[in-house]
Amino acid sequence: MAKIFNKIGIVGKANHPETQQTVEVLHRFLTEQGCEVYIEQRVAINEQNNAIKALNLVELGEFCDLVIVVGGDGNMLGAARVLSRFDTAVIGINRGNLGFLTDIHPDACEAVLSQVLKGEFSTEERFLLEVEVHRHDQVKATNSAVNEAVLHSDKVAHMIEFEVYINDKFVFSQRADGLIMSTPTGSTAYSLSGGGPILTPNLNAICLLPMFPHSLANRPLVVDANSDLRLVVSNKAQAQLGVTCDGHVTLPVLQGDEVRIKKSPHLLKLIHPKDYSYFSVLRRKLNWGSKLY
Ligand code: NAP
Repeated sequence: MAKIFNKIGIVGKANHPETQQTVEVLHRFLTEQGCEVYIEQRVAINEQNNAIKALNLVELGEFCDLVIVVGGDGNMLGAARVLSRFDTAVIGINRGNLGFLTDIHPDACEAVLSQVLKGEFSTEERFLLEVEVHRHDQVKATNSAVNEAVLHSDKVAHMIEFEVYINDKFVFSQRADGLIMSTPTGSTAYSLSGGGPILTPNLNAICLLPMFPHSLANRPLVVDANSDLRLVVSNKAQAQLGVTCDGHVTLPVLQGDEVRIKKSPHLLKLIHPKDYSYFSVLRRKLNWGSKLY
């Protein structure tokens, strides 16, 4: 039977012995299965094996049908922001703490991958946010986010002031530490810690969650993900601001700037084993009660 995935990339935490061990196991196993295997440069550097083909993340996206991310959810976020631009499926092997996105136990990686190579898997599409900072009608900076974009001050306990517009309609102004705009994927991350709702991954929605608003009447607001969101930062002198994507990349924001956020045209194609259940992951991670009978 023809394999669905022939060119497979492996991405992982660099300089992390447990990740390295799983990468070696996967490289050996997939080569035995007749796949062409490529390893991300940063990880391959630690390997002594000259036969290893090393590529950077963009090249992995261009060449590979499937990329395996070994690490924590943070590693998945970094890889996903790049790989979602290509027609590459992505699967996560957990070597972090929580593993909402990297949901496969390393001990099960060979068993799961042999199922996947036989076509026994499910595919889920996760959307990303596209973030732009506009100044004097020009785009000054742009990036994307899998979990969330956060408008914030660069100092702790410094209030910032901004207006929120959805599809050019004024919604509210706010004095707060900032605003978290989260995808369903990110609803179990920073937004959850801020008291935001959990959005199941299939929802086409974005949650707007004020961070420490100076008001008693604030609530998280869940909006259609096809909306155009616009944050207009007050012209008043205030602390230095930024908009941070997935906690990884910060775009500088000045007084009077506009931050525009919309759904990215790219989707992350996340692969799961056939028996994967989102609710089972959620139940385990959040310590919810198990079945009574
Ligand atoms: P990090 O600060 O090193 O770790 C953040 C933690 O969030 C890790 O335990 C990570 O899991 C987990 N995480 C990441 N994405 C998740 C998701 N979609 N659902 C559930 N948990 C998730 O940063 P990082 O690992 O690079 O991840 C960046 C993300 O961390 C940000 O996008 C933000 O959402 C989140 N964060 C949360 C808080 C908070 O809850 N107070 C504070 C800062 C950042 P792994 O251990 O599996 O990697």
